[in-house]
Amino acid sequence: MKEKKLKIALTGNPNSGKSTVFNRLTGGYAHVGNWPGVTVEKKEGKFQFRDCEVTVVDLPGIYSLSSHSIDEQIARDFIMKEKPDKIVVIVDASNLERNLYLFTQLLESGANVILNLNMMDIVKNKGIVIDTKILFEIFGVPIVETVASKGEGIEELKEAIVNESKKTKGSFRIDYGDDIELEIGRIERIINLTGYPPRWLAIRLLEGDREILEMTKKEGKNVESQVLNSKKRLEEHLNHELETALVEKRYAFLSGLIKESISKKYDLLEQLEISDRIDRILLNRYLGIPIFLGMMWLLFQFVFTLGNPISDGIKIFMGWLGESTSYGIERFGGSKWLSSLVSDGIIGGVGSVLVFLPPIFLLFLAIAILEASGYMARAAFVMDRFMHALGLHGKSFIPMVMGFGCNIPGIMATRTMESQKDRILTILVIPLMSCTARLPIYTLFAGAFFAENQGWVVFSIYLLGIILAIIVARIFKGLFFKGEVFPLIMELPPYCMPTLKGVLIHMWERGSLFIKKAGTIILGCVVLIWLLASLPLGVEYASKESLIGQIGSFFAPFLKPAGFGFWQAGVALLFGILAKEVVVGTFGTLYGVKEAGLTNVIQEVFTPLSAYAFMVMSLIYIPCIAAIATIKRETNWKWALFAAGYSILLGWLLATGIYQVGKIFF
Ligand code: GDP
Ligand code: MG
Repeated sequence: MKEKKLKIALTGNPNSGKSTVFNRLTGGYAHVGNWPGVTVEKKEGKFQFRDCEVTVVDLPGIYSLSSHSIDEQIARDFIMKEKPDKIVVIVDASNLERNLYLFTQLLESGANVILNLNMMDIVKNKGIVIDTKILFEIFGVPIVETVASKGEGIEELKEAIVNESKKTKGSFRIDYGDDIELEIGRIERIINLTGYPPRWLAIRLLEGDREILEMTKKEGKNVESQVLNSKKRLEEHLNHELETALVEKRYAFLSGLIKESISKKYDLLEQLEISDRIDRILLNRYLGIPIFLGMMWLLFQFVFTLGNPISDGIKIFMGWLGESTSYGIERFGGSKWLSSLVSDGIIGGVGSVLVFLPPIFLLFLAIAILEASGYMARAAFVMDRFMHALGLHGKSFIPMVMGFGCNIPGIMATRTMESQKDRILTILVIPLMSCTARLPIYTLFAGAFFAENQGWVVFSIYLLGIILAIIVARIFKGLFFKGEVFPLIMELPPYCMPTLKGVLIHMWERGSLFIKKAGTIILGCVVLIWLLASLPLGVEYASKESLIGQIGSFFAPFLKPAGFGFWQAGVALLFGILAKEVVVGTFGTLYGVKEAGLTNVIQEVFTPLSAYAFMVMSLIYIPCIAAIATIKRETNWKWALFAAGYSILLGWLLATGIYQVGKIFF
C-alpha cells in the first residue's frame, strides 16, 4: 500500500490551544526538536490516519504574519519557506474577532488552511452561537470545531487534514477600499513570484514587508519604486500610516463578519447584572408579594381571554357531536340504550371535560413561561420569606408551587426537605394548592355566573388555596410539629428569555397527560356514572330514582347548608374524589351537553353564591385518590387519612360559611 505523506503546521494566537491540539493529534509521542538557526523551540510529531502519515509542526503562537518578533519570524519562515501542505489555524472561538486576524492573513497568502474553532466548550458556556455555515461561505475552507482539552472533534480534525481538499474556493478577499485597491492593482500587475498570489504580495509590500521586498529583488524584479509611489499617494489621502489603515480595514471586515455569523444567546455576567437589577424590584420586601399576586392575576386573564373563545368552539362542537351521533345511532337501528351511552355518557361526560382543554393548555403554557424565565423561582423566594416570617419552612413553597400543576409531583418534591416534620407539614397542605384538574370546575362555574370577572374569581380561589395552606400549616405546626425552622438558601437562576420550543414542549408534556386522563380514568368514571344513572332497568335516565340518584340523595342533605343540596352535586363531588375533572364530567353526563348546554343547566340549579361555595368546596374538600395514595406512600396511612379527613371538614365548613354568611348580604 502506498503511503501518502503530509506535512502540516499548527498555528494560531498564543493560548489558543495549539500545543493541546498538537498533543491530541500526535498522541503525546511528540519529540521536541530544536530548529536550526533559531533559539525558540518548535515541536514536531507524527500521526497516522488511514493511509496517510502526517508530520505535524507546532509553531509558536503569533498574532499576525508580520515579522516583528522572533516568534513571528519563526512561524512565518516556516510557513513561507518550508511550505507545509496544510496549515491548521487554531483559534480560540470564544474570542473570534481577534483570533481570526491571523487566519485572514494566511488565507490571503494563498496557503492551504483549515480553520479549527477550538474552545467550543467556552463558546457554549458563554451562550455564543457561531454560524459556521456563514463562515464557510465566506472563507471557503474546511472548518472544524474542537474542544481540544477534552479531545472532542480531534478525529474530525484529522479527517479534514488528510482529506484531499477540493482546492479552496480561492475567492476570499478583503476589500480595502477604492484608493488602496487601485494601488494594490498597480503593484499586482508588475509582480510575479511563483508560489504566492500577486495580490497578497502587493498587500504585504504596501504593509512594508521587507522580506518580501528582498525576495522580489532576488527574482530580478524591481517593484520598489512602484511601492514607494503607491505608498506616498495613499498616505496623502489617508490621515494615518498605510500599515495602520490596512490593519484597520481587516478588523473592520472581521467586525462585520462577526456580527453576521455570531449571535449571543446570553452573556452570563451581563445577565446576572440585569437579573440583579430586576430582582431589586421583584424581590423587594414590600413589592414582592403584590407583584407575585399581580402576576397570578395576569396569568388568569391570559388563560381565559385567550382560552374561552376556543372553549366555546369546542363546546358547540361537542353539543353538535352529541346530538348527531345519537340521531345517527338511532337512525341506523342502534338501540336507544347505545345512543344514550355514547351521547349522554361518553360525549356528555368526557366532552364536557375536553371543553376545558384550551384554558388548561394555556395555564401550562403560562406556568412554563414563568418557570423558564426564572420568575417562578422568585415567586417561591418571595413566599419563602413570607412563610419564614410566620415560622414556617420556606422550602415548602417550591413543592407548593409545583402543586399548582398537579399535587402529586408537588408532594414528591418535598423529598428535598431535610426535616421530616416540615416535610409532613408541607405534604398535608399541598392539596390546598389548586391543581389544574380543578380548573375545569372553576372555569365552568365562573364562566356561568361571573363571566365578566372570570379571571378575578378564579384568581380568588387560587389565592384562597394559598392563604389556607399557610394558615393550616401554621396551625398544624403549633399542634403537631413544634420546633424551629431553618433558614433556606435558594437558587435564583438569572432571568432569561424563554424559548418558544422549550415552553411548547413543557406545555405539551403536561397537557397531554390531561388528555390521557380524559381517555382513561375520566372516561371510565363517566361510563360508570352513566350506567348507574340508567339502572335499575326501566327507570328514567338520570332521574332521582336511578341508582346514582339514590346515592346522590344520600349525600344531598349534608350539602344543603352549603347551598348545593341536590343529588347531582353529591354525585359530582363523590366521583370527583377519583379525579377532580370528573366533577365536570359528572354534570356533563347527568345533564347532558345537548340542546341547552351545560352552562345553562348549571345556571338553573345554582345561584352565584352557591356556585362560589361549590368552587370553594371543590378546591378543598378532599385530595383526589391518587394524591391520597401518594401521601400514604410518602408518609403513612395515618397522615393520608388525616389529610383526607381535615380537608373534607375544612371544605364543608368554608363552603357552608360562605353560603350562610353570603345569604345575609345577597
Ligand atoms: P497554546 O499556547 O496555543 O499552545 O495553548 P495551549 O495548548 O498551551 O493551551 C492553553 C490553555 O488552554 C491550556 O490551559 C489548555 O488546557 C487550554 N485549552 C486548550 N484547548 C481547550 C479547549 O478546547 N477548551 C478549554 N476550555 N480549554 C482549552
Ligand atoms: Mg503552546
